[in-house]
Amino acid sequence: MTQAPRAVNIVGAGLAGSLLALLLARRGLRVALFERRADPRQAQPERGRSINLALAARGLRALERAGVLAQVQPLLIPMRGRMVHERAGRAALQPYGQREHEVIYSVGRADLNRVLIDAAARHGAVSVRFGQTCLGADSAASRLRFRGEGGEYSVPLAPTLATDGAGSAVRTSLAAAGLLKVREEWLDHDYKELSISPAAGAALERHALHIWPRGGFMLIALPNTDGSFTATLFLPRSGAPSFATLDGAAAVTAFFGREFPDTLALLPDLAAQFAAHPQGQLGTVHTTPWHRGGEVLLLGDAAHAIVPFHGQGMNAAFEDCTQLDELLGAHGADWAGAFAAFEAARAPNAAAIARMALENYAEMRAAVLDEGFVRRRTLALELERRFPERFIPRYSMVMFHPEIPYTEALRRGAVQEELLRQLDAGPGTQPDGARAAELVASRLAPL
Ligand code: FAD
Repeated sequence: MTQAPRAVNIVGAGLAGSLLALLLARRGLRVALFERRADPRQAQPERGRSINLALAARGLRALERAGVLAQVQPLLIPMRGRMVHERAGRAALQPYGQREHEVIYSVGRADLNRVLIDAAARHGAVSVRFGQTCLGADSAASRLRFRGEGGEYSVPLAPTLATDGAGSAVRTSLAAAGLLKVREEWLDHDYKELSISPAAGAALERHALHIWPRGGFMLIALPNTDGSFTATLFLPRSGAPSFATLDGAAAVTAFFGREFPDTLALLPDLAAQFAAHPQGQLGTVHTTPWHRGGEVLLLGDAAHAIVPFHGQGMNAAFEDCTQLDELLGAHGADWAGAFAAFEAARAPNAAAIARMALENYAEMRAAVLDEGFVRRRTLALELERRFPERFIPRYSMVMFHPEIPYTEALRRGAVQEELLRQLDAGPGTQPDGARAAELVASRLAPL
């Protein structure tokens, strides 16, 4: 009698885990998906996590591959650009791209996760087990340990895919056993989410990502399907101004009145929300290696959590799922080979997007108000119009061009930035068209 192949363990039914379960099931594998939380189709979403996220081309491509794009589509709100709000109340839209489809989408985390879990759970090859907290991987004993309602237990380790997020228990256990190294780089800026009701949100353009950039800090807001917006304040933890100085209702109201005066009407219960909502930390997780033989592989935030300023953490995690799925197709039952190929392909890309995400914070909170930045951004879009096969702005490469790896976006982006600075002759001047053509042709190979 032949034995049924062992199920693949996936730890964490968050965004990556639930999508990956579906992809692997479609590939003909049996999947055991373990999740610490209760079933989100029956329970309220966890507090304190970002409520909505920006979904872009890399994420969309993965959803399409898993056959769930049609179910996700009704949850998506297109955002055509950044609506930049100045202190004096003036607001102007900076489009993300110049083609109709060059938009990003706001999507509710809980709704998206529910759709993915539901699609995975409906697949006969996936068994989803909620209320199961992974305690770690025991590589020496080849077991994966859990605590559930009935107490502690373990299952065979190989093969395990760890998608248990930025605080991954699997990663922590492997690091404690000396099997991998982890470096967590915390940002000295924290975040807090505030909710703008549908009634108040009616005053805001729905198809935009709103930013109130203030140099050292910023407020942003993304639309939700019910007409509400989720605003997020990013601010240093200490110093002035900082979360430490916003130590009561009067300080909070005075700060918003001074820095974001037009938001006071959007947030009539600002002080109460500010007191009630958690203050979240942000950071980058660097892990090496990501896998141990063919036993266990970390992916998504568990391997490479990043700061949220490029709106790419989930997109990168979804791209991980796409790439692993492709590699499993090529490597068959050779898990060790697939895991090694995955890490070799993805780790440089994860490092590139981690860096671009940090750089984008400076761009969002400060540069979008800078005349030189706006001039060079206009010039970049003009160069893209003239030389679409060679020049694509870095933001567009990351958000709209999944065929361009993050490493290449980073590399070409640096060349392009230098070229833009060479061509930008200052306020009120027009760049030399012939020189632009010459520089683009000599510095940028066709894509
Ligand atoms: P998660 O979504 O965190 O899922 C991990 C899952 O594992 C959860 O379900 C959790 O309950 C479960 N789990 C954890 N520990 C255990 C355990 N011990 N046992 C069992 N289960 C466990 N990304 C974007 O692409 N666009 C954005 O606009 C964006 N905005 C963001 C804004 C903020 C403020 C933050 C903090 C992040 C943002 N991100 C964004 C990043 C995005 O949230 C993450 O990259 C994404 O959630 C990663 O998916 P994941 O599946 O790897 O991890």
